[in-house]
Amino acid sequence: MTAVENAFRWARIHAGRHMAACEQTGLRWSETTITEIVTAHTSRAVNVVPFTQRAEALSGADWVWWWVDNTGAYGMLVQAKRVTVTRSKWNFDFGYEARSATRSQREVLRSAAAALDLLPVYALYLGTGDYRRWERCPDFHLSGRCTQCVKRTVSLMPALLADELLVSDAASTYERSVALEDVWRRPTSAPLIPALEKQLSPELSDFLRNRQDGTRAIARSMIDRVLRTRSGQFSAVSATVESDRYGDHDQLGPVFGDVPDDTGHWGLRYFEHTLNPLRHTPPGYVLEITAGNFNEDRLASDMPSNVAGIVVVRVPQHE
Ligand SMILES: [Zn+2]
Repeated sequence: MTAVENAFRWARIHAGRHMAACEQTGLRWSETTITEIVTAHTSRAVNVVPFTQRAEALSGADWVWWWVDNTGAYGMLVQAKRVTVTRSKWNFDFGYEARSATRSQREVLRSAAAALDLLPVYALYLGTGDYRRWERCPDFHLSGRCTQCVKRTVSLMPALLADELLVSDAASTYERSVALEDVWRRPTSAPLIPALEKQLSPELSDFLRNRQDGTRAIARSMIDRVLRTRSGQFSAVSATVESDRYGDHDQLGPVFGDVPDDTGHWGLRYFEHTLNPLRHTPPGYVLEITAGNFNEDRLASDMPSNVAGIVVVRVPQHE
């Protein structure tokens, strides 16, 4: 296990211990505390730049996460959401609106992610396995203390899939999300519906059909969840393919220029939405952070006000 993998594992273990201690006392652990624990423990192995002047004033603090490796980079804007379990019903309150706010947290996340060319993502804090009543996970669930269930304590879900009405129990939550510490696990072939397969460029087809590594495995873990949900929708596939709107495949643009136009039930071109943040090269501010040569105040002033800081992870590669 690499230092990064180990740090993510320990971040989840410490988050789980705090959740367990709170649950035993009837305390309700908060998203802010769990975010602190996860960020602090991963910071042993990744670059973390908190915007210290800003953090205290914020209620819905979102974090920019960039995953980088030798082949490219994938960027997310991450908002934390805890689950509330009532018998077998799971609730996340994705559309939460603070009393003083003019926009919901969801809208703030989406617009900031779009402005920064990042994928909006929820970090789901699911509590301990006991809190979830050890409901069956889809990953070789074991009775007793299922390891896969425990890993799900901190999970990632593309915000596109965070539909309040449809994400309402263990099965729907697990299907649309991935454990944070498994986000780079090398996926096999993506769940594609046949009408879409015909629309894929050779590069995109190769990306979706074959195992990927590093940042590309992370991008696959997101698009695979989107495609699996899409295959459960009944709407017809849009017939066109976006013809290379970015012109040349320059080194600063997205990795995939030609992607299907299909929108599914979302009314949004979900290939573009999910894959645009996959880049050949990370943006300049990420390079500055990894080089240790940045100005926190200037970085903060370039970001929307809901951003609490930036995390840059050098993704383990296995090939
Ligand atoms: Zn399980």
